[in-house]
Amino acid sequence: MLESINVAGEWRQGGGDHYASIYPADGSVTAELAQASIDDVNEAIERADRAVHQTGWGSLKPHLRAGVLYRISQLIRDRAEALAQLQRRDNGKPISETRALVASAADTFQFFAAACETLEETITPSRGDYLTMSVHDPLGVVAAITPWNSPIASEAQKMAPALAAGNAIIVKPAQATPLLALELAKLCEEAGVPRGIVSVLPGSGSIIGDAITKHPLIKRVAFTGGTKTGRHIAHVAADKLMPVSLELGGKSPTIVFDDADLDHAVSGVLYGIFSSSGESCIAGSRLFVQRRIYRAFMDRLVAAAAQLRVGDPASEQTQMGPLVSQAHRETVEGYVALGLEEGGRLLTGGKRPTGELFDRGSFYTPTIFEGLANDTRTCQEEIFGPVLVALPFDDEANLIAQANDSVYGLASGIWTRDYKKAWRVGRALDTGTVWINTYKQFSISTPFGGTKDAGIGREKGRLGILEYTRQKSMYWGMNEAPLPWADVTGGDAS
Ligand code: NAD
Repeated sequence: MLESINVAGEWRQGGGDHYASIYPADGSVTAELAQASIDDVNEAIERADRAVHQTGWGSLKPHLRAGVLYRISQLIRDRAEALAQLQRRDNGKPISETRALVASAADTFQFFAAACETLEETITPSRGDYLTMSVHDPLGVVAAITPWNSPIASEAQKMAPALAAGNAIIVKPAQATPLLALELAKLCEEAGVPRGIVSVLPGSGSIIGDAITKHPLIKRVAFTGGTKTGRHIAHVAADKLMPVSLELGGKSPTIVFDDADLDHAVSGVLYGIFSSSGESCIAGSRLFVQRRIYRAFMDRLVAAAAQLRVGDPASEQTQMGPLVSQAHRETVEGYVALGLEEGGRLLTGGKRPTGELFDRGSFYTPTIFEGLANDTRTCQEEIFGPVLVALPFDDEANLIAQANDSVYGLASGIWTRDYKKAWRVGRALDTGTVWINTYKQFSISTPFGGTKDAGIGREKGRLGILEYTRQKSMYWGMNEAPLPWADVTGGDAS
């Protein structure tokens, strides 16, 4: 049976091509759906625009809108295990990771419910005979376009602040992973979001994503995905003079100084690159190790990487599941071949695991290269897979220059016991996030975003809600007499 999509609250089959969500661990079909057509896009957006006004969602008192968001959060928690299992099937991540993603989606709705009911509009210092205020209106209809690597978390990160601010939202999930966004739409409906306010339109990026972005009634696009797509969306946004947030790619440096706690550093570096099979924008994929400890550190790291448990995503023990698709595994394999061509030495991995479990899925082993210069393509391009490149460094200045020598600036990690050095280096790194003696930790209350080709704008944080509003200034005249310029009293103001 074909899954339905959600066109402005109406559950129906889309008018577009059929598409199957494939379980990457064994190639079986999880669900098949008829995707959205351009007509579905136009209908969803036009009905959403009417719904913002007609349902009163945009003008609902914040505490009442917050109540709906709290209910969404609770419904996610109530259905957490089913959602985590579905997400495991949708993109093949290990169940321990999908459980964490579902919990983070619930936290996100809870957080933005609180942000919504506590957001204050301000009275600004008056500079005349008037009272001045800064208030925030909803934008109208906004869009969320998301990638396949962390579906429910990416979607919640955009839907929660957009809804909290009183907008309608059109969600375009990645083609490979449409199922969690559709589940979220069901929970929104159950929690009391009015009909028409949420639509989920699965489909191809270049057709459906593009049509959504270009639609004149779409007032903002929150995008997470690749830099090439992000740049295209930025061009469309420039033509429409539309605000966007672009959370894009990364090639994040992780730095291990010779005074680091090496147990912490080894485990943090492994988690940073190999969790999510490296399919993570913030993967710590370039490793810089201070030369004095380089060999000893690498020996430990390589031995530990070879012990990581690659396997069935349904098992609680699994640390690395399959890559999202056979096609993506081939891309990763292409990069490993390139690394060898560029003169890299493989310290571990660089192959598919063998055995019955692995034959039908798109699995790949944790892979570590050394011997590559920072300016090689293997060190510069985002691989989005379980491939780490390691480089030794001598001094701090040279390290900072190399770490910042990347088109990306998403995240970085520093391992050292010297807090002054961590402060110095952390401030010098041109990345949106710096982790010190930890890595890949996330908090909804802390803003997130990149520099350079890693994107523009920030998501998360209490003020993340403001990204989905239009600021408006209001002046309230307090003059006892008419404004003097026109002199309407004939010089007699009494
Ligand atoms: P992608 O850019 O191919 O696709 C992302 C989304 O954009 C999908 O929904 C896709 O259908 C849509 N899309 C594609 N072309 C479009 C167009 N012309 N107009 C509108 N929408 C379009 O990326 P992907 O392969 O799904 O995801 C991997 C990328 O996402 C990696 O580069 C990764 O670093 C990045 N990512 C970034 C973050 C972050 O927060 N910075 C988080 C996760 C993933």
